[in-house]
Amino acid sequence: NKTIILASRPKGVPANENFKFEEREIPALQDGEVLLKSLYVSVDPYMRGRMSDAKSYVAPYEVGEPITGGIVAEVVDSRNSKLPKGAVVLGNLPWQQYTVHSGSGLSQIQPDVAPLSYHLGILGMPGLTAYFGLLHIGEPKPGETVVVSGAAGAVGTVVGQIAKIKGCRVVGVAGSDDKVEYLKQELGFDEAINYKTAGDMKEAMAKACPDGVDVYFDNVGGEISDAVYLSLNKFARIAICGQIAYYNSTTLPTGMRVEPILLKMSALMKGFIVSDYASEFGTAARELAAWVKEGKLQYQETITEGFDNIPQAFFGLFSGENTGKQLVKVADR
Ligand code: NDP
Repeated sequence: NKTIILASRPKGVPANENFKFEEREIPALQDGEVLLKSLYVSVDPYMRGRMSDAKSYVAPYEVGEPITGGIVAEVVDSRNSKLPKGAVVLGNLPWQQYTVHSGSGLSQIQPDVAPLSYHLGILGMPGLTAYFGLLHIGEPKPGETVVVSGAAGAVGTVVGQIAKIKGCRVVGVAGSDDKVEYLKQELGFDEAINYKTAGDMKEAMAKACPDGVDVYFDNVGGEISDAVYLSLNKFARIAICGQIAYYNSTTLPTGMRVEPILLKMSALMKGFIVSDYASEFGTAARELAAWVKEGKLQYQETITEGFDNIPQAFFGLFSGENTGKQLVKVADR
């Protein structure tokens, strides 16, 4: 039973040396417990924060302990009547092939509703993040211009498509020509900018948003955001969802001061963590599922095969290897 533990805290970009593979015994099941076989493991940018010991909204991982995160798993043995053998669950679980679990905090997945992996993406945490950040902070109105950074990722792809459902003009920013093509051709974005080749981002943004920017959903931060701020309209709303451009920084980020713009434009900027909206997850998940079923939300995943490749898949988030949600398939059901 392989497990991946945090071997050391990264300084800057995370690397193989920060993870260690170990073999761990599977303990015998006690009354009430289930044995879970991991099927799909989610790798997410927020995990970089948990590898550090800086104070944040979730506790840091402990050195010497397994990394944990969103996992879809199958119950392969059970002494818990609520979770029979064959059930499929979603949980915050260790990066482990097999896990013995009390069952508490696991949610059971209906396997016939959607592919199992969707519960780690569009129907799970990233989808909910897109939904609440855009609709509750961005409050997009028909005809408005919505810009999303990190546009071709798990959250960004959903943000842009919901904005289209709401009748907005949508502009995405992403890191390759293939991603730009995908956003425009497959997802119906009105414009997309490759920030790696655009040259002057401020010019590119102004050109892509001739009527200015009403809503900015920020996954990234840095110079991409500076360019958006210079194109903001009066009463613009900015949802600060992620700042991946800084996650590997070892110094405090500095840059353009945005306050004079917020003042001049009567703009609202608000950070959020998806769990702020936990009480409304059920309603949002149902609406997302309906959009998926009606074909209004397209969905893409980048699936890496094999437990041993989990760290590699995680590193890839910081170099933009993924389009849509990055997952690792560990076992068949
Ligand atoms: P993604 O699927 O978007 O993967 C990360 C992407 O970020 C990469 O594919 C890459 O795409 C882009 N990226 C990486 N480094 C940089 C950089 N230096 N500058 C610009 N782009 C970069 O991840 P998620 O959709 O899961 O998450 C997106 C963001 O949302 C993250 O910042 C994450 O932390 C945040 N988040 C916040 C939540 C909340 O509750 N507030 C919940 C979930 C996610 P590219 O090729 O375009 O560079």
